[in-house]
Amino acid sequence: MSLFKPLETSGENSKKETPKGEAEKVRCLIIGSGPAGYTAAIYAARANLNPVLYEGLQPGGQLTTTTEVENFPGYPEGVTGPVMMEDLKKQASRFGTDIRWGLVTDVDFSGSVHKVIVDDKHVIEADSVIISTGATAKYLGLESENKYMGSGVSACATCDGFFYKGKDVAVVGGGDTAAEEAMYLAGLCNKVYLIVRKPFLRASKVMQERVMNTPNVEVLFEHNTKELRGEGVVEEAILIKRKGEADEAEVSIKIDGFFLAIGHTPNSAPFSKYINTYDDGYIKTIPGSSKTNVAGVFACGDVQDKTYRQAVTAAGSGCMAAIDAERYLSEKK
Ligand code: NDP
Repeated sequence: MSLFKPLETSGENSKKETPKGEAEKVRCLIIGSGPAGYTAAIYAARANLNPVLYEGLQPGGQLTTTTEVENFPGYPEGVTGPVMMEDLKKQASRFGTDIRWGLVTDVDFSGSVHKVIVDDKHVIEADSVIISTGATAKYLGLESENKYMGSGVSACATCDGFFYKGKDVAVVGGGDTAAEEAMYLAGLCNKVYLIVRKPFLRASKVMQERVMNTPNVEVLFEHNTKELRGEGVVEEAILIKRKGEADEAEVSIKIDGFFLAIGHTPNSAPFSKYINTYDDGYIKTIPGSSKTNVAGVFACGDVQDKTYRQAVTAAGSGCMAAIDAERYLSEKK
């Protein structure tokens, strides 16, 4: 499910129309506008690569759906996700990045010049491409989940857990992410419910043991979430226990926060014909670099990182991608 919350755009490059007509030649094309894409743009622009950046469907990326960001170095008082992304965008614009709105619909990476099609019509021939399309958190698809987005519903415990210090929260999922998020929250919150739809956890053995041995984590096996309730903010979750069984029952838990940890989908689909990915879709990069299997195509941020998934690590990998692109272009020359 995509959760759109487009940035308020400002500056001369905002919402620039995609040029039409003949194939456009670009030295460095950046696809995606989260912290990885904007950081790559800042570095690429300062290296005179004249980058063109396409913002994609969710300008600013996943951070635009979070509230306060307190763990990005340089913001001692914290900053909201949208404001931080606007700052990064302004910084990328300042050095001349051509920021455009558009969706990459197809690519052809079979030749030495990389063809990228935007909005099914505009053809770009790029000497180098930086993929920073991010990942999309999976949601359950409940109406009430949407209603309380940013008011008790989150898909990132590391980002938002602090706001639930001393409170009761729930985490949905039974994999490693859910187990990690539950452990993280257990260190901050009064009580953590782990809502697992199966009678077992899928997480690794060591994480399972940690979860089961943490006194303030209660695992609710064979529970599915029906809906969230509350006056403006999440106050209660209605669960169905043993759905479809003879002893099916409705259960209510009082909570202040509801965290989704049912997986992410990396946004790598348009590239997967040419770019090697793992089975779960994450782009494979050569360790210690942002290089993909195609020369001149680099990947950074969450589309290639299922382990850390932090704004600061995404920004760091965006810097790597721009430096790798710059070196590739100067060697090619
Ligand atoms: P997973 O796909 O491993 O787990 C997703 C979990 O969410 C499963 O328990 C699944 O249930 C549950 N789920 C999915 N859809 C729903 C739904 N609609 N309602 C309720 N529950 C649902 O995703 P993760 O993000 O946990 O992990 C992804 C990969 O990353 C894994 O390979 C994992 O091992 C790895 N990882 C590694 C870490 C580490 O090594 N430190 C940390 C985090 C992740 P069910 O089991 O019933 O399908």
